[in-house]
Amino acid sequence: MAFTLPALPYAPEALEPHIDAQTMQIHHGKHHQAYVDNLNKAIAGTEHENKSLEELVKNAGSISPAVRNNGGGHWNHSFFWEILGPASNSQPAGALADAINSTFGTLDGLKEKMNAAGTTRFGSGWAWLIVKDGKLEVTSTPNQDNPLMEVAEVKGQPILGIDVWEHAYYLKYQNKRPAYLEAIWNVINWNKVSEHFGKAK
Ligand code: MN
Repeated sequence: MAFTLPALPYAPEALEPHIDAQTMQIHHGKHHQAYVDNLNKAIAGTEHENKSLEELVKNAGSISPAVRNNGGGHWNHSFFWEILGPASNSQPAGALADAINSTFGTLDGLKEKMNAAGTTRFGSGWAWLIVKDGKLEVTSTPNQDNPLMEVAEVKGQPILGIDVWEHAYYLKYQNKRPAYLEAIWNVINWNKVSEHFGKAK
């Protein structure tokens, strides 16, 4: 069964002014669609074509570069749209807030670590907040890799991920990746991050 592009859970302009509508339209409708199409092409007629996305992603390093890049791309973007949402005053609460405070001191401490991970990731990739051995940890991956992959340097269950490819911010922020990383905290859907945290623990 072929993979399909999931609908955005909000309108493309819903994240304005932090992330502009045109970036969302191209990022979702063109870039993510291309990962889906190229993943389907890569597995068509092979022993991998009926596997779940999670299974493909976990073993991507030993399947093929095309599955690693496009399976990772499909998983990462599907996850990314869900942990973003219209700007609100929502903050981490409950067990997630406790874990953030005990690991990073404050929410600002977490943001600093994530922004540093995203800024220092050379070229294209992702910054991640993961649960590893029951604890929160910040890491980053190159290209469309993610911490679920067996080939990842630091493995764990992602609960928050930030795309630092230029296609995620270039129209509005040009070369200013740190400005994009500051702005994106205004549109994090903390309820969804909490939900991932609850499942990962
Ligand atoms: Mn992207």
